[in-house]
Amino acid sequence: MRRYVIVGTGVAAVAAAEAIRQRDPSGTIVLVGMEAEGYYSRPGLAYYLTGEIPEAMLFPFRDADFRRLQVQVVHDRVEGLDPAGQRVRLARRGWLAYDRLLLATGARAARPSWPGVDLEGVVYLDNLAHTRHVIRLARKAKEAVVVGGGITALELAEGLQARRVRVHYLLRGDRYWRRVLDPVESRLVEQRLAQMGIRLHHHTQVAEILGHKGRVTGVRTQDGRVLRCQLVGIAVGIRPRIELAREAGIATDRGILVNPYLETNLPHVYAAGDVAQVFDPRLGQHVLDSLWPLARQQGMAAGANMAGHRVPYRRSTPLNVTRLAHITTAIMGQVGQRDADPDAGLVRGDSEVWRALPDAILAQKSDEVNLIRLMVGRRTLLGAVVMGDQSLVRGLYTLIDRQVDITPIRERLLAPDAPLGDLLAAFWSEVQAHLRTAAAEDGSPPPREASG
Ligand SMILES: Cc1cc2nc3c(=O)[nH]c(=O)nc-3n(C[C@H](O)[C@H](O)[C@H](O)COP(=O)(O)OP(=O)(O)OC[C@H]3O[C@@H](n4cnc5c(N)ncnc54)[C@H](O)[C@@H]3O)c2cc1C
Repeated sequence: MRRYVIVGTGVAAVAAAEAIRQRDPSGTIVLVGMEAEGYYSRPGLAYYLTGEIPEAMLFPFRDADFRRLQVQVVHDRVEGLDPAGQRVRLARRGWLAYDRLLLATGARAARPSWPGVDLEGVVYLDNLAHTRHVIRLARKAKEAVVVGGGITALELAEGLQARRVRVHYLLRGDRYWRRVLDPVESRLVEQRLAQMGIRLHHHTQVAEILGHKGRVTGVRTQDGRVLRCQLVGIAVGIRPRIELAREAGIATDRGILVNPYLETNLPHVYAAGDVAQVFDPRLGQHVLDSLWPLARQQGMAAGANMAGHRVPYRRSTPLNVTRLAHITTAIMGQVGQRDADPDAGLVRGDSEVWRALPDAILAQKSDEVNLIRLMVGRRTLLGAVVMGDQSLVRGLYTLIDRQVDITPIRERLLAPDAPLGDLLAAFWSEVQAHLRTAAAEDGSPPPREASG
């Protein structure tokens, strides 16, 4: 009987357990996680913070689901790995032996080194315990300063604003998320934030977080201003939790390096999810993501391989359909901008692939509420951003992910004032019909559409 040990209780860990159980009905599966709450939806934390969903909705699994999977969930912290002895050391329970080990330890929020960063009232949106803490503090706070970039900073700002806290949002640069969004998209988001009552401060850096009796009272900026506040929300990036792996001699870079079978360089040790740095064949390099659907896919692939089914992981195009200042926004493939982003590195709900600068020509169409940006390569679409109306997203994602030849519409897409939406919708209908016919003829699966 094989013994599988999985470090982590996030989506990658649970997906791996499901994939193992599908293939190995009798093996022992142990999940070790250091969060008391176990498995919950991390992207859902933002909606819990705004008050749109109750805490109970964050939990996709009940105890009965773990029992059905015959998985043992242990609440403990893994403190060390002994790959030669095939065992892991738990903080409270001592050594635990494995035949196959998965590291699905995720990532943690980066902490800046500003003076005052340890004061009560400095908060992150990293896990459920943090979110509960923010909600508690927001009951008494009148003003907050939010610092950082990408999705999580906005989620903090919007969540606090929704809880009637007045928010100052500080950006080091001249616009929001400049490595992923283009200037038109950034301005659209910033306009909406201003309409919501969030005050933006461009070109503004924190010099110090001020406090009294251990609690936050304000922020001093590098240009000498003092913004009074009782809360400081920080979202300047995330760091994959690679320490266990590095100390055990597992090859790491920014994350744990894995091959297409999600194997590390050590025998019987795998990694998946936010902690794994996975080879992206289109970019030709190992990349990091912090995306729920990709973490799930990697967990499934790792689990299958751990159970002895040698199947390579097919990396799909990173996609996130999220909300930026109440604007539904889909980001997929390579959409990167030339500018570096001084506000944050890789954040939650982000992918290094998006930051890749594609060898592409831009086609863009926008009105006051909807926007489409296409990165048009020689024969294929390389990436897209869709804000507002999302009806094109499924088709667009499939065109990008399947690298469909767009030669029949390429020139028309690039014409000035091209009706991008109509062109894409008509082309997608043709492609779908073609893919269905081809699938029916050769028995291959029908077109795969966007998920997540
Ligand atoms: C606020 C927020 C918003 C997000 N928004 C989006 C979004 O819009 N779209 C999207 O696709 N994704 C989003 N994400 C990212 C998504 O949640 C992650 O990509 C996903 O949760 C990664 O899953 P994982 O299993 O790899 O890691 P995690 O979910 O981070 O789980 C890792 C677990 O391992 C545990 N662990 C770590 N080290 C140890 C140890 N030594 N011993 C025991 N346990 C350990 C951790 O405590 C944690 O519970 C968001 C995340 C957050 C926090």
